[in-house]
Amino acid sequence: MRRKGNVKVFCRTRPLFEDEGTSIVEFPDEFTVRINTGDDSLAIPKKDFEFDRVYGPHVGQGEFFRDMQPFIQSAMDGFNVSIFAYGQSHSGKTYTMEGSSSERGLYLRSFEELFDLSISDATSTSRYDFYFTALELYNEEVRDLLAEFRNSLPRVQMGPPDSVVEVVQEKVDNPLDFSRVLKAALQNYTRDPSKANVSQLILTIHIRYTNWVTMENLYSKLSLVDLPGSECLLVEDASGDHVKDFLHVSKSLSALGDVLSSLTSKKETIPYENSMLTKILSDSLGDSSKTLLIINICPDALSLSKTLSTLNFSARAR
Ligand code: ADP
Ligand code: MG
Repeated sequence: MRRKGNVKVFCRTRPLFEDEGTSIVEFPDEFTVRINTGDDSLAIPKKDFEFDRVYGPHVGQGEFFRDMQPFIQSAMDGFNVSIFAYGQSHSGKTYTMEGSSSERGLYLRSFEELFDLSISDATSTSRYDFYFTALELYNEEVRDLLAEFRNSLPRVQMGPPDSVVEVVQEKVDNPLDFSRVLKAALQNYTRDPSKANVSQLILTIHIRYTNWVTMENLYSKLSLVDLPGSECLLVEDASGDHVKDFLHVSKSLSALGDVLSSLTSKKETIPYENSMLTKILSDSLGDSSKTLLIINICPDALSLSKTLSTLNFSARAR
């Protein structure tokens, strides 16, 4: 994998649906996505985009997860790690993060990996403890997905001092615990189809390491973020009630893009304060943290303009 600062960008395409004709997405090598409309009369007959890694339509969840392992290891080693799924609606963000019952995604696999690492790393004088928090962001407002039915849980603070959010955290001791709390959080996450593409989900596993002999007390976290549909950046597609939602999402995604491009170009000040998303994750987006942007794209010709917009966004983070 090629290194470039602490931000890496991977691209994954979902398979074509049966009624979608032919694919316009090609993978000439493991770093390049080629958009090939097969039509020279179009403005964009063929265009290449570079990534740290690319994944074709037949790459399964297990194979994809192998490349996630270094990020999970980093979280275990004390880095704050954030992994984002970015792309238009129906491009595979939720599939990548949540997966299906037979093809589990990043949430469950990440925790299992953390748990396995904790078992092999723990000694008689040290231990790892894991805590889970789940937030939904909708129109710049934070909803705590665990708070509503678990008022008695302890809280953890997220975000910078001037805009701290107090979040309920649940201790998770094993993969079964984790899948139970995850399920509760996801059930509480909005399934209202008119909102599903405009709200964002931030799931975080907090890792506390204690060593009684060296008196070490380390804290790090892994945040997994299912972003809203990136078509919201094309605000002209919005109508009526959706204009406000689109504007909020567009502000949030633009703020994320600005933060990532400032990090990649090593700017001195990073503009975290422009959205709730970047504020809450400010300590997981920066010099001492590791970030992965997963770009999800659709392979069909009808999605061309949205796919190009997505790919152009990704270019800002590299
Ligand atoms: P999004 O969250 O970006 O709106 P979804 O994750 O819901 O998109 O994916 C849209 C549809 O495509 C779902 O039916 C999902 O199961 C399917 N899908 C997405 N990615 C893949 C993949 N890599 N392999 C198989 N099916 C996929
Ligand atoms: Mg989704």
